[in-house]
Order: sequence, then C-alpha cells, then structure tokens
Amino acid sequence: MDKISCIKCKNNPIYTLENNRQLCDSHFISYFEKKVFSTIRKFNLLGKSGRIGIALSGGKDSLTTLYLLNRIVMRNPKMQITAIMVDEGIKTSGDKTKANAISFCKKEKIDLNIYSFSEEYGIALDNILKKLQSKDHKANPCTICGILRRRILNSKARELGLDKIATGHNLDDEAQSILMNQFKKNVLASAKLGPVVGVKKDKRFVQRIKPLYLCPEKEVMLYARLKGFAAKKLVCKYRKFAFRKDVCDMLDDFEQKHPGIKNNIISSFMEILPMLKKEYKNKRIRTCSRCSEVSSSDICNVCKLIEKIN
Ligand code: SF4
Ligand SMILES: [Zn+2]
Ligand SMILES: [Zn+2]
Repeated sequence: MDKISCIKCKNNPIYTLENNRQLCDSHFISYFEKKVFSTIRKFNLLGKSGRIGIALSGGKDSLTTLYLLNRIVMRNPKMQITAIMVDEGIKTSGDKTKANAISFCKKEKIDLNIYSFSEEYGIALDNILKKLQSKDHKANPCTICGILRRRILNSKARELGLDKIATGHNLDDEAQSILMNQFKKNVLASAKLGPVVGVKKDKRFVQRIKPLYLCPEKEVMLYARLKGFAAKKLVCKYRKFAFRKDVCDMLDDFEQKHPGIKNNIISSFMEILPMLKKEYKNKRIRTCSRCSEVSSSDICNVCKLIEKIN
C-alpha cells in the first residue's frame, strides 16, 4: 500500500482536512495561519490602525489569538496590542492559567494588564458562589462568571483607550452558542453573535472581534501544541455544571457521526445573521440607573448580581 503523505510535500501527515487530504506539521501551520489572516481580512476585523486588546485567559485559544494578532501588529506601526487578563478567583485552575499568560506575554514582549474579581468587586468567584448557594439562589457559575468578566473587560478596555477587544472564540464555541440560544429561545443573543459582536454601536461598548471564528477547536489545539504554547489543557472546575458543556458534548458526538455539521451550523448561521442584526438594530439601548452602563432593563445584570451577593 502507498505511504500516505502531505498533499504539499512528501513529509508525514499529522492532520486530515475535511476533504480527506492530509497535511504535515509545517504545512498545517501555514494552512491555519492563512485561515486566521483571511478571516480577519474577510470580515475586516482589524481595520488599518488602532489599539487592539486581547482578552487573555492563558488557554490555547486566547494565546493563539494573541500570538497571531501580535504578528500583524508588529508589521503595522499604526497598530498597538495589549493583553487583558481577568482573574476570576477560581482556585485550582486560575493560578496555572495566569502563570501561563504572564510567561507568554513576557516572552513575546506584550503589555499585559491583569484585573481581578477580588479587586473590582471585592470578592472572588469561588466566594461569590459559596455566598449565593448559601442564600439558596440558583447560582449558575458560568452565567455569573460571564456577566462579571465581560463587564471588567469592557470597562478596562475603555479605560485603556482600546478600539477593539479580540477574543479567542473558535468555530466550536460559536456553533455551541448558536444552539444554546436556539434551545433557550434567545434570538437577540444570536443576533449579537458573529465574527464582530453586537448589533448596535454605542460608545460605552468596545467592539469585540473573533479572529478564530472559522477555526475548529481541534485545529486551534493542534496549532497551539505545535507552536509550544498552552501544552496542557486546563479545565475549569465549574465547567461540569455548564449548559455549554452538555451542548459541546452533544455536538462533538454528532460531528463524529456526521462530519461537517459544525461547519454547516456556522455557514447556515452566517446566511441569516445579517437579517437578525437588521431586525434588532433599532432596539432601544437602555442605561442602568445605578452604574450608567448599557443595560437591557432599568438595572443591569452586574448591579443585580452585586445586590444578590451583598
Ligand atoms: S467554565 Fe464557567 S466558571 Fe469556569 S471560567 Fe469558564 S465561564 Fe467561568
Ligand atoms: Zn507538507
Ligand atoms: Zn448597573
């Protein structure tokens, strides 16, 4: 039997593309990088100048995003890059990811700003959850974590004068979010998805972008491993309680049985996304009466949560 080799050279393959053709390690790296750079061009994620913030967790997705955007910024004197890290205060995994992010930024000489739930809200996520559970509130760790983390990211990016925040969301994350929104009948949340987040511009919102939008998780994982960062997969101890985990497992199972479904979810969603954004474009943006941030009701989710915690 003929030895299978990379479609670009005769080296041993390490990755199989959707069309069953194979790539060796160095051709996989160039395939992946081309995909990210063409996603950035296709959706005009960066523009030609500006200050870009990267939301850094220390995991493979955000490190890959930071590494590749830094390469673009290094070639463009009109651009600057800054990493922002939020330490939620989750014991066991938090410390490792923080150390990973710090050493990466040091090595790549990237400015890193670290903020924490403890400093910003006066309490770590572990303690917030203990408090809420003892008060008999239904406390979904990921919902709470997401609301509080997004607020810090946005307000700090604004303070730092950043024009955009790039996040490490990949194709799998987006496919999960699309299904989760369908399952929860949350069409507005779907309208906010896409490679450029949100439906309406407001100067209080720093635009969020997703350069890994078209990259499946397995490709990001392989790229990060070949590049030597984020070698160990760090799993948050609260992930097992997340609705996202169930959807993620279900999609992985489906993808194995029916290869290509994750890609199909994204491409069909991209066809309806412009209509969704148009539909919700005129929705009134409200202001929280307590903190003056953007809100969907009189009091924003962050202020509601802080009230519950206290
Ligand atoms: S798994 Fe949930 S609790 Fe843990 S970091 Fe992610 S969003 Fe936060
Ligand atoms: Zn090759
Ligand atoms: Zn508020």
